[in-house]
Amino acid sequence: MQFQSLNIIDPILKAIEEEEYTTPTPIQEESIPLILKGNDLLGCAQTGTGKTAAFAIPILQLLSANKAYVKKRKIRSLIVTPTRELAIQIGDSFKAYGRHTDLRCTVIFGGVNQNKQTSSLQGGVDIVVATPGRLLDLINQRFISLRDVEIFVLDEADRMLDMGFIHDVKKMLELLPKRRQSLFFSATMPPAIVKLSSTILYKPSEVTVTPVSSTVDIIKQQIYFVDKENKKNLLIEILKDESIKTALIFARTKYGADKLAKMLSKKKIKAEAIHGDKSQNARQRALTNFKEQTTRILVATDIAARGIDVDDLEYVINYEIPNIAETYVHRIGRTGRAGAKGTAISFCDASEKAYLKDIEKLISKRIDVVNDHEFPLMNHVVEEPPKPQFKKKKPSYSRSNYSGNKKPRRQFGKPKSS
Ligand code: AMP
Repeated sequence: MQFQSLNIIDPILKAIEEEEYTTPTPIQEESIPLILKGNDLLGCAQTGTGKTAAFAIPILQLLSANKAYVKKRKIRSLIVTPTRELAIQIGDSFKAYGRHTDLRCTVIFGGVNQNKQTSSLQGGVDIVVATPGRLLDLINQRFISLRDVEIFVLDEADRMLDMGFIHDVKKMLELLPKRRQSLFFSATMPPAIVKLSSTILYKPSEVTVTPVSSTVDIIKQQIYFVDKENKKNLLIEILKDESIKTALIFARTKYGADKLAKMLSKKKIKAEAIHGDKSQNARQRALTNFKEQTTRILVATDIAARGIDVDDLEYVINYEIPNIAETYVHRIGRTGRAGAKGTAISFCDASEKAYLKDIEKLISKRIDVVNDHEFPLMNHVVEEPPKPQFKKKKPSYSRSNYSGNKKPRRQFGKPKSS
């Protein structure tokens, strides 16, 4: 199927051509006609399926149909998404697909000064893409009114709930006009999400595309068994391959991400880290550098990497195996987007073998093992956690260890990082 057969108007078709999209992805093929008809939509899809264009294209088309209204510059479509990175990416998509229409789109997110956002709102916009907190803040300050919203999109609803935005979403819903078209997207559909969707949607059409675990089929997956202390040597060895233009590396902790980026930079491999402790500007800068390939390696934690969408990202490297199998699937889903090529390399030490087993069970396949490398696993012994002691030891009081009735001193551990 071609985009032309979806009855898309010329200015948008032209932009799609410029993006070099030739055929619609399955979610686009199904959703675009339904949204153009004015239906509400319940979409079960994750990023990487072409979901953004599936709603952005018909929204742009529906809004540009009413030329008189375009001149008034009222906010007629609101897209709410959980993270700033996603908001920026969705905003970029609206700008790209809508570049030959008269519509204006702006992006609203927290963590930065609001002035640029408010002045763009004051100039008049038709489409707002926002994260919940800053959106409500600007509504309270009367920079935004939702009175004229015709099409509302709640994106990544499951993450929205995971991140604790449910109250913000409910507040927002009260401010939206009752008569509107609503589109609701979520990668998973647990009962809480289904319940939330039923409060938002009216007789929705349902579209489900490629469940999480089957998108991984197109990605080449490899596992390297390696000792923990040799992981950095193995990484440097792998990155000697110049055909790896860029790679997204996942680290378990913020500290680990920083350390890895520093280590690579010392070896003259251009790397930056992206995680929750970095300022919004630093994160965005790192992401832009990576997209433009001025930085070769981006080291990210899972939370910071949510929704990172880099066209043509061919390599994902799991420096550590995630302890939750679904996280592996989300991580490697950053590559092989919309049918493109992708390779996921994972480093596994002895203690991570159990996690690997869980992953293979989830994706129902064995991951190819690369044996031919310089740092094979030597230490196969998994350190056992200390055995719990069931027998209560009799206290033995001696002058040196008797502390009377004093409570043991509280130990303050290091704060956990993600
Ligand atoms: P999304 O699921 O919206 O995050 O999109 C994933 C990636 O697929 C983005 O980088 C889009 O630019 C790209 N994309 C979306 N639709 C198409 C298409 N029809 N053909 C090729 N690439 C696409």
